Amino acid sequence: MQDLIRTLLSELGEDPRREGLRDTPKRVEKALKFLTSGYQADIDQVLNNALFTVDYSEMVIVKDIDFYSLCEHHLLPFFGKCHVAYVPSTKVIGLSKIPRLVDVFARRLQVQERLTNQIADTIQEKIHPLGVAVVMEATHLCMAMRGVEKQNSVAVTSAMNGAFRNNARTRLEFLELVKIRGTAVMRDASATLACVGED
Ligand SMILES: [Zn+2]
Repeated sequence: MQDLIRTLLSELGEDPRREGLRDTPKRVEKALKFLTSGYQADIDQVLNNALFTVDYSEMVIVKDIDFYSLCEHHLLPFFGKCHVAYVPSTKVIGLSKIPRLVDVFARRLQVQERLTNQIADTIQEKIHPLGVAVVMEATHLCMAMRGVEKQNSVAVTSAMNGAFRNNARTRLEFLELVKIRGTAVMRDASATLACVGED
């Protein structure tokens, strides 16, 4: 990988041998491996010993989870907040595991819509709740840094299953609790202005 990065630096018109860039290939390799470490993660291992049987059916919410990901179209970061909620049927996930789950999928090359769905689908599959909802609000540097359209815009994506899809009150309760900005957008449940289609 380091040779490729040296070549990339040359192609960009740089001198990879100059002092400031000498260790850059090593650093970039290390950073990229960390930022894509989600490919190596094993979900079952991440959730190990953290699925509990309960007699509890109130909504569980973990909000304002910071996440950082890389857009697969430009290899540039997109980042923001993730809000996760579910209504348990028989099982819950240890609360600290939810942000870990978000990291596993965020540390891959992603589009925001797929990332949102993967988090929801995994929770659905692992504990079969009565409903699961995931909302992500993100800034895409591939749009902001390149001056594409509205630079301060935030892309909002959501995945809602079960009770969150079928029951307007459950959905509203969740959206109220996480105080999503621009709830008009949320009525569509999947509005997005992610970078798909941009050059
Ligand atoms: Zn992009």
